Amino acid sequence: MELTRLPLLKSALKSRYPQLAVFIVMLVGYIFAILAGLIGTPVGSHNFSIVFVWIGWWAILILVAVPFFGRGWCAVCPIPLPGEWLQRGAILSPPDKKPKWLNLRVPKMFRNIWLQNISFLLLALFSSVLLTTPNITGIILAAMLFTAIGLSMIFERRAFCRYLCPVGGFIGLYSQTAPIELRINDKQVCAKCEGKPCYNGNEKGYGCPWDVFPGGLTKNTYCGLCMECLRTCPHDNIALNLRPFAADLAKPSARMDEAFKAFIMLGSAMIYAGVLLGPWGALKDAAYNVGSGAWFVYAAAFLAIIFVVLPGTFRLMIFPSPIGRGAALSPSKGAGVRAFAALSNSLIPLGLMFWVAFSLSFVLTNASYIFAALSDPLGLGWNLFGTANIAWQPILTSILAPAQTLSLVGGLAWSARTAQRSAQEAHVSSVPVVVYCFIVTAFMLWLLL
Ligand code: SF4
Ligand code: SF4
Ligand code: SF4
Repeated sequence: MELTRLPLLKSALKSRYPQLAVFIVMLVGYIFAILAGLIGTPVGSHNFSIVFVWIGWWAILILVAVPFFGRGWCAVCPIPLPGEWLQRGAILSPPDKKPKWLNLRVPKMFRNIWLQNISFLLLALFSSVLLTTPNITGIILAAMLFTAIGLSMIFERRAFCRYLCPVGGFIGLYSQTAPIELRINDKQVCAKCEGKPCYNGNEKGYGCPWDVFPGGLTKNTYCGLCMECLRTCPHDNIALNLRPFAADLAKPSARMDEAFKAFIMLGSAMIYAGVLLGPWGALKDAAYNVGSGAWFVYAAAFLAIIFVVLPGTFRLMIFPSPIGRGAALSPSKGAGVRAFAALSNSLIPLGLMFWVAFSLSFVLTNASYIFAALSDPLGLGWNLFGTANIAWQPILTSILAPAQTLSLVGGLAWSARTAQRSAQEAHVSSVPVVVYCFIVTAFMLWLLL
């Protein structure tokens, strides 16, 4: 169903003003989160930066925005805005004269998501401290904002979003499962279109900030839903569509950087569940005591699980014979590598549901902090809305276990279905992938319940 057929929605998306209004609210909130982190109370559970970013925003992102709107968060995210406004020399429509920034192309070796994988892992390794220490959160939020500005001065378009943002990498991965997509209506119209303004820009708007040619879009991963192409296309050939969930996974990616993203996200969800929700005090201590010997052991185990144990077991299961394993690794026999990458796509729905199940527990346990932080965001003893003294208590605890079980079992069924399709394309059996998904799901159930 084409949503852009609805005249009201289409004009709201084409106009820059509604988006600008949301941008401003988000940017003010983001800057306030930085300040709260830096100058507010050091008690994480009473500081706006921790409570609103890691509980409120995280809940909305993982439980609503990504599953239902894909990169919808990127459409309103404040992080790239100041850099983009400086790069364009304008906040609204394109100016007559462009500022003279360097506008370089990002070097080819970085045009993949390996840097995003690394930046996510760096945050993940320090996450126990990040999630509880306001000034570290403030510093990281500020660093992301200033890095995005710096990269906008050097490189063209949104280099930070496309190649570095630790959040953007996983939103892109899981956006493939969302029931929403931006695509062109008619390829023939694009073939005849002169100047390709959707990519190069015109007087009505900017060329795609995400360096994507909308005419070639087949999946959601790299479309930031910014709506510029809707504004620039002179042939009304851009559509925002409702579609079945996970439609992009019907044509699995063969890229190893994307395949490893699936393992990184799957593994991180399991490790977080163990560290943050599990009963193992020694594990918690190791994760919190950054720089200690125990932390280095924890970090090494974290990386080994993500880069060796999970993908290694997966490869051994899908290519049990030495010949098959050789094919999977030999670049000259790229079919094996492509099959490995394609089958890894089956883990995307399961990974998303692992995060949903983990986040349900984390968010329902800590959501009551939001009311207190709303009234006293800096922990200075204010009581703006009369909710500052609401005591902490977990909410909806009775539905937690059933909701988590449903998420995990649903994720398993969803991944099994995806594996069948991917295996058909790769001309291999889907059974090992389904067994793998079953084993990791059983482990996650044990960790959470
Ligand atoms: S990629 Fe990152 S910085 Fe860019 S819009 Fe998305 S979340 Fe924001
Ligand atoms: S501007 Fe419109 S018609 Fe032209 S290439 Fe882009 S999407 Fe196709
Ligand atoms: S210009 Fe179009 S294709 Fe490019 S990111 Fe924005 S919405 Fe997606």
